[in-house]
Amino acid sequence: MENLDKVLGICCVCRKIRINNEWLKEQDNPELYGRFIKKYEGRLSHGYCPEHKKAAMEEDDKSRNDNWPLEIPENYFK
Ligand SMILES: [Zn+2]
Repeated sequence: MENLDKVLGICCVCRKIRINNEWLKEQDNPELYGRFIKKYEGRLSHGYCPEHKKAAMEEDDKSRNDNWPLEIPENYFK
């Protein structure tokens, strides 16, 4: 039975789609990819594939670190 309420996960960076826990690139199988995109049109859930999730988190960490104080007074924790 197909669950038609489901949404299709798509990476907002490389536009890979998630099918059965695998991420499919359009170039890998344009026919299947196209069929899924059409079927789930309007029910796409934008997120990150594992590769870009990692990159996004690193970028997030980096920008946060940039805002952290570079130096803490030595007696700060005493
Ligand atoms: Zn991606």
